[in-house]
Parts: sequence; C-alpha cells; structure tokens
Amino acid sequence: MTQPVVTRIAPSPTGTMHIGTARTALFNWLFARRHSGRFLLRVEDTDRERSTPEATQTILAGLEWLGLDHDGDVVSQFDNAPRHAEVAHAMLASGHAYRCFSSQSEIEAFREAARAEGRSTLFQSPWRDVPEADHPDAPSVIRLKAPREGQTVIADAVQGNVTFRNDQLDDMVLLRSDGTPTYMLAVVVDDHDMGVTHVIRGDDHLNNAARQAQIFDGMGWAQPVWAHIPLIHGADGKKLSKRHGATGVEEYAEMGFPAQALRNYLARLGWSHGDDEFFTDAQAREWFDLEGIGRAPARLDLKKLEN
Ligand code: GLU
Repeated sequence: MTQPVVTRIAPSPTGTMHIGTARTALFNWLFARRHSGRFLLRVEDTDRERSTPEATQTILAGLEWLGLDHDGDVVSQFDNAPRHAEVAHAMLASGHAYRCFSSQSEIEAFREAARAEGRSTLFQSPWRDVPEADHPDAPSVIRLKAPREGQTVIADAVQGNVTFRNDQLDDMVLLRSDGTPTYMLAVVVDDHDMGVTHVIRGDDHLNNAARQAQIFDGMGWAQPVWAHIPLIHGADGKKLSKRHGATGVEEYAEMGFPAQALRNYLARLGWSHGDDEFFTDAQAREWFDLEGIGRAPARLDLKKLEN
C-alpha cells in the first residue's frame, strides 16, 4: 500500500453505543493498526436536536472500554459546516453543481405529474442548465449536477462491483437554502479533509456510497476504498434489536462483562481467518483483512455471549 492507511468511524451521538457501531469500530481499528495507519473518530452531530454531549461520552467510554484507541482529536461534523458550504460553492463555480429555485410544492407537482404519466418520479430540476444571468433574486438550494447517463460503479472490497444506474440517482441537494450542508456533502468533505483512505461501515450505507462517489468525482477527489460490511442480525436472522438482549456496549460494561471477551467475539462476527476458530488479539491485529469479511449478515447470539 503506497498511502498510509486512514480509517474512521462516524457515529451519530444520539443514544447508546450500539454493538454494530462497536464492531465497525473494531474492524476499522484492526485494519488501521495492522497497516500502521491511523484510526479517526468523527461524531456526526449535525442533527442538533438529537445529538447530545452525553451520547458522545458514551461512545468515547465504549471505545475506551474495548481498548480501541483513536488517533487525534474527536472531529465534530457540525463544526465543519462552513467548510462544507465552501465546497458546495466550489462545485457551483466549477459547473459541477447548480442553483435550484424550485419550491417544495413545485417538486411535488413534478412528481404528481410524473406518476400520472407513468414516468420516473425522480425530480429533474428545470434549473439545471439555466445560466446565472437568468437567476431570480431568491433563496435557492445547491444541487449536484449528477451524470444523467451511464452508471456509477462502487468497487467494494466486500460486496464486489455494485452498479447503480445514473438515471436512477437524482441531482441531490448539497446545500440547503438556509446554507446548511446535507449529510451526503458533509460526509464526503469530512472524509476527504481527514484523509480517509478506507471507508469501512455497515452495508446500510451502500446506496449512499453511490451518491458520495458522485460528489468525490465532482470535486475531482480520489474516492476512498469502500468496504460495506453486512449488518449484524440476531440469532433468529432478524435485524438486531432490544428483544434479542443487550444491544448497547455500555450495558455489557455495566453487567461486568469482560471487555476482552466482547472484543474477541466481535472480531469473529462477520470476519474469518481461514479455518481458525480462535485467535488472540495479537493475531487479529496481524491477520485482519477486508477479504476475510463475509457477505452474509453476521448473527449475534447474545444468549451465548451473556451466559
Ligand atoms: N453516521 C453514520 C451512522 O451512524 C455513519 C456514516 C458513515 O460511516 O459514513 O450510521
């Protein structure tokens, strides 16, 4: 690998530290440590109503308890909002984005008409190619001028090549009319600015990757290596939830559960190394690779873990 590896986790500080977040953190940490790289922590705290400092503390405490040390300061996504806006304006200037003045009701009307005519309801802004000289003096959003034809392919280290048809991706909003960035823009700008080389996260973000790739391309920035790991399910194969047992890392800590045991268990959850059923911490650090991550949802048997 030519560039030093930089990974990150980007949890939203809105509640507990979910066991899925802990596994994502562990995989990112193992990968960074194996390659003598850096493992960064960014809190996605742009949702001001739901984000709390207590939740950030819970995440920090969970990481510490698991022995997953992060490098550098904790990055606040909210604090980077001016930088996000700057990038949206840079894309506007380079012609990779445009101002859209369509109101919510106009967008709805477009969708209604498209539905009635059996066309795609994906909004196609009438402002996409209108020159600035013809713009009204009114509030606008900034939208990405996404490619209309062809495909966006995510070369994913876990899922293989995943293809998205560009005519099924709309011109996403980058900057809202009040000047605040959207989630998609914020993630891309932050990952770029933090020098993230590998985005290892849950596969519920795979669709987002296609949109994020379009923003990376629009800015002429190299995309990171994508690795979308299958989510953790309960022993019954259903999406992991409270009814399966404790899902917050802090609950295990409170129960007096050994951190080492949870960490070893999580390391094997969705990742395997040949036929080795057991391995030490040091071996996990030495062996961890993206190729060993399976494509099927991992099953967490909390009963087994708690007994
Ligand atoms: N904030 C997202 C989450 O908590 C993570 C996004 C990402 O890793 O890109 O699921």
